[in-house]
Amino acid sequence: MQTLDTFNRPLRDLRISVTDRCNFRCTYCMPKEIFGPDYTYLKKDEVVSFEDIARLARVFVDLGVNKLRLTGGEPLMRRDIENLIDMLANIPGVDDLALTTNGSFSPKRVRSLKDAGLRRMTVSLDALDDPTFKVMNDVDFPVEKVLEWIDASAELDFQPVKVNMVVKRGVNEHSILPMARYFKERGHILRLIEYMDVGNSNGWRLDDVVSAKEMVEHVNTELPLEASDPNYQGEVARRYRYKDGSGELGIIASVTQAFCVDCTRIRLSADGKLYTCLFATKGHDLRALLQDGANDDEMRQAIQTIWTQRNDRYSEIRAENTSEKPKIEMSFIGG
Ligand code: SF4
Repeated sequence: MQTLDTFNRPLRDLRISVTDRCNFRCTYCMPKEIFGPDYTYLKKDEVVSFEDIARLARVFVDLGVNKLRLTGGEPLMRRDIENLIDMLANIPGVDDLALTTNGSFSPKRVRSLKDAGLRRMTVSLDALDDPTFKVMNDVDFPVEKVLEWIDASAELDFQPVKVNMVVKRGVNEHSILPMARYFKERGHILRLIEYMDVGNSNGWRLDDVVSAKEMVEHVNTELPLEASDPNYQGEVARRYRYKDGSGELGIIASVTQAFCVDCTRIRLSADGKLYTCLFATKGHDLRALLQDGANDDEMRQAIQTIWTQRNDRYSEIRAENTSEKPKIEMSFIGG
């Protein structure tokens, strides 16, 4: 089944945020000043159950989704997530089941995630040295621990691990080459991400963005790159191969090289709202439908209507965007 939006983009990729909580306070996503001890997070009874998430995922697969990604906040903050992974991994039609984590939990957890059916691991890491890492994540957490998580993932055949690095001018662009060298040597895929105006809390300025062009030129000074074809339509990162044949690097350039034209992603928040864009200002409440006893056909109809009316292309029109409406926070719907 194929479900197309108003730009003929197929619904393919469901990102499931299982919690709005995180143990980091990355300044570009969840700055401490806003997400402090008094911040109101979702209560337990406001969060969608694993059973309902799995039920919704089956409906999405009926509509053409074949790729699921678990996000947060920090998804491992949600207890017993292995139970959800087991449910999702057993849905016929799910070709890909990935998780994005900050790698801060015990590396022993990697085994249970693998055994539950997780297929791919993405880890967020913005620097290799503790002082820079601390400036980016604003909690005193050692880089070494995250590297242990990545190593444990590689040992359990999550190879290559994708490592997401947000680059902010004047903060961590000096870490680009050390990160590229480190993960190139280990066969992992580093993805350099342009700093984005997600949500309303990170004080985003265009001046703080290091563009994709600059990042490629920077890496090229030491590790020559050549452009590579996408793996599939709608792939978020632009792929580059190291000319010496030893692997690849990705660039996610939402600001300077928008990729809305073939965006196949939809996001489900932990409280059961559907968002058709990372920069959305409103969600569609599926949880209310669930609570009203809607059957699968009614859920399918509702989701189909939402997607077929979708016309999001925020990154393409960012400069012209005059909406004052607050955007949903990235920590609430995942990246
Ligand atoms: S800005 Fe929105 S429409 Fe464009 S690629 Fe990102 S999520 Fe998709």
